[in-house]
Amino acid sequence: MPKRLPMIDLRTLVLGIVVLACLATLGNVLYVAYRVQLDTLVHFSLQANQAYASKVASSITEFLRSARSHLTYSAWQLAGGLDDPALLHAEAKRLQAQDLDFNSIIIVNAKGQVLEAYPYTHQIASHHRHSLEIREAVDARKPLVSAAYTSRSGDLVVFMSEPIFAANGQYLGIVGGSVFLKKESALNAVIAQHYQLDGTFAFVADANERLLYHPDPERIGTLATGSPTIAAALRGETGSLDAPNYIGIPMLAGFAPVPDAHWAVVAQQPRELALAPLHELMRKVLLYILPASLIGFLLMLWMSYWLIKPLRQLAHGATHLSAKETGDELRNIDAWYVEAAAIRRALLTAERLLQEKFGKLRQEAQSDALTGLANRRALHLVLDTLMEGERAFAVLALDIDFFKRVNDTYGHDAGDDVLKHLSELLRQNSRQHDLPCRVGGEEFTMLLPDTTLADARRIAERIREAVEQADTPHCGTLTLSVGVACRQPDTELAETLLKQADEMLYKAKQNGRNRVEVLDFSPSHPASLARR
Ligand code: GH3
Ligand code: MG
Ligand code: MG
Repeated sequence: MPKRLPMIDLRTLVLGIVVLACLATLGNVLYVAYRVQLDTLVHFSLQANQAYASKVASSITEFLRSARSHLTYSAWQLAGGLDDPALLHAEAKRLQAQDLDFNSIIIVNAKGQVLEAYPYTHQIASHHRHSLEIREAVDARKPLVSAAYTSRSGDLVVFMSEPIFAANGQYLGIVGGSVFLKKESALNAVIAQHYQLDGTFAFVADANERLLYHPDPERIGTLATGSPTIAAALRGETGSLDAPNYIGIPMLAGFAPVPDAHWAVVAQQPRELALAPLHELMRKVLLYILPASLIGFLLMLWMSYWLIKPLRQLAHGATHLSAKETGDELRNIDAWYVEAAAIRRALLTAERLLQEKFGKLRQEAQSDALTGLANRRALHLVLDTLMEGERAFAVLALDIDFFKRVNDTYGHDAGDDVLKHLSELLRQNSRQHDLPCRVGGEEFTMLLPDTTLADARRIAERIREAVEQADTPHCGTLTLSVGVACRQPDTELAETLLKQADEMLYKAKQNGRNRVEVLDFSPSHPASLARR
């Protein structure tokens, strides 16, 4: 057989549902609030970082254009010829001093020979002689920004150059400036000044994905291959991306290209830092929601208590329907809603029917089937009640004389008729509170509450006479003998009284039948009353 789950009472059930509903609502509200805030925050962070990257990119562009304009001016100054070393030196010095854009200046002729390098002419000139970047710039014959490279002195350098053309269009060479990326430079300042406090930082990479700038100086000059943001910016795109960085830390990144130099700018912020205000917000929401939820929960608890109370009481009534006090309990229940009232009505009806049925059963169990008089069980119940009280009462023991003869002469059915006839006589001769009982075949007992011995004797005598004088069916005349006993102050047991009455009955039979014998303890009376 499948095992049944233990029954849950309605209160636990309702409380469970209330708690679940509260938690579900709270969880739902928090989740929705969290989602909406999260999406908004991520959206705004991405937008902000994209704007930041674009800003840095445009600052760099501006820087490059300003630097370019200085180089263009120098190229124009040098268009007259590269023959005068003093002029070259003066121009290089002027250019370098103009601002902090360039860490060093070189002037190279069309053959790639360094004519002037300022400062440190000799050192730098020799270093640069076979430099690939200079070769490339000289061969390009157009404005160029090199990819980042490491100079022989170990500096990470970007080289910008401008071609020098004579007035007749002859290509003379280039004038170029180096920007040392790791040193204090104008470019460095342009990027670093944007460094923000909320964990946002920008970095710049060249066309080879080499980092030109990064807040972590260790990473400047290293390759950032495979970064989707750098790749996108190098394709010329401006945008944003919500993705983990190269070591798996989730980032909110914005990116923008620097078209003049073919560089990429990325501004990013760890997702966790961007969302920190959200977690603080959720903590506050919880803090504000909790007291209200608690009040709501208590309210629901109180309401469920009032809703369930009548049902609990009705259930108790239903399980104790046979108890005497259940009727009153049911009537006292405050069934304040329709369903409870209907159940109460139904239970009250059921209770009444049950009590009626019990009453009938009790009656059947306590009455004699042939005569309808009380039986021995009823006799003892009433006797017990009388013994519990203090008051005197009398017991009559009655037995038909020679009843066997009636049976023998007229048959057993006739005997039954006689028994019924006698029972009717006993009923007619008893007062309202007297209890005539049939305790055996043709033996009867009568309880006479609140009756003195003298009265009991009179009543017994009256009954005896009534039976004697009645016209009994079948046999005509019938007599009976009666023994009488009365409760004395020292009588402790009902059995004693019954026995005493029986002894008196026996005595009546002994003394000739159709007579009454009384057990009288008072000295002034003789122990028996003779038949008159
Ligand atoms: P006594 O005067 O000594 O009482 O003589 P008695 O014949 O009445 O003797 P006893 O009391 O011993 O006999 C009772 C008889 O009553 C025996 C039985 O046949 C008869 N009797 C007992 N119960 C019933 C009954 O329910 N119906 C009928 N018809 N007879 C019964
Ligand atoms: Mg008998
Ligand atoms: Mg008899």
